[in-house]
Amino acid sequence: MNWLTNKVLPKFRELTARQETPDNLWIKCPDCGQMLFHSDLEANQNVCSHCEHHMRIGPTTRFTALFDNSRYDLIELPEVPVDPLKFRDSKKYTERLKDARNKTGDRDAMKVAHGKIDGNPAVVAVQNFNFMGGSLGLAVGEAIIAASKLAILQKAPLILFAAAGGARMQEGILSLMQMPRTTVGIQRLKESRLPFIVVLTDPTTGGVTASYAMLGDIQIAEPGALICFAGPRVIEETIREKLPEGFQRAEFLLEHGMLDMVVHRRDMRDTLSRVIDLIGNKLKKPSAIPAKKARKAVPVKVEDAKDDNVKPESADVTAPETKDLKAAE
Ligand SMILES: [Zn+2]
Repeated sequence: MNWLTNKVLPKFRELTARQETPDNLWIKCPDCGQMLFHSDLEANQNVCSHCEHHMRIGPTTRFTALFDNSRYDLIELPEVPVDPLKFRDSKKYTERLKDARNKTGDRDAMKVAHGKIDGNPAVVAVQNFNFMGGSLGLAVGEAIIAASKLAILQKAPLILFAAAGGARMQEGILSLMQMPRTTVGIQRLKESRLPFIVVLTDPTTGGVTASYAMLGDIQIAEPGALICFAGPRVIEETIREKLPEGFQRAEFLLEHGMLDMVVHRRDMRDTLSRVIDLIGNKLKKPSAIPAKKARKAVPVKVEDAKDDNVKPESADVTAPETKDLKAAE
């Protein structure tokens, strides 16, 4: 029986799932309701040609669209304990996991790949909303840490496409622990002075927005993406007030200074390439001084050091830097 449920049934489901997407399939846009031809939609990067609604896409589609000649290498992610809490709600967590794995063909909700974007090396992590709502659990936590380690090893920027309903409640406190863990992983990346670029896609909510998804050096979002901690319905019910139109959507957040850019999917690759190029060239310059040190260095000149206002020892702040730079030259 075990053999039947574990081996035969998933394979059978996989086969039937494949047959559900023939070439002549029409897809209804969830926003404007227009029927879209599936191959047209695919050619348009899964953006509705009538209303520009950005549909949710998985890691493979992202990687294919992003990397040069659609060539990339997936990295193997660390194994994590399965169902450590033996959790069960209306269904066993192990069963939910099995279903999600059969549906997506992936181990968990995040995949990490590396390759080149316009010739520049990059590590890209993509969260899959189709896998249990992209929820942040042990596996996603490990994936982010593995991605940041790989980026440090390759001295490459890390680009993360976030999409999640929040933390994976079936893993309880262990999923919440991934918030500080991933934050530390990202911090290590920043200490190595490598850029962390976040692309927020629809929807990015809950614990994910309370950790790594909001820590990007550059925060980009796709048009219309819902980005929030608590959802609009919860807030509306709590404060008993009507929320403004477009509340918690990408454009609203951009207007209120929470994002740097809202970028259409067709321009995503070019934008990311430009950002990597700009930051990469800045970092390569030998004269680049970390912003923190540079700020200290500016007011302390040799002449100023004689001034009563400036303590003599503070003049030394710039000294090792300048010496180092001269030695480097
Ligand atoms: Zn539409």
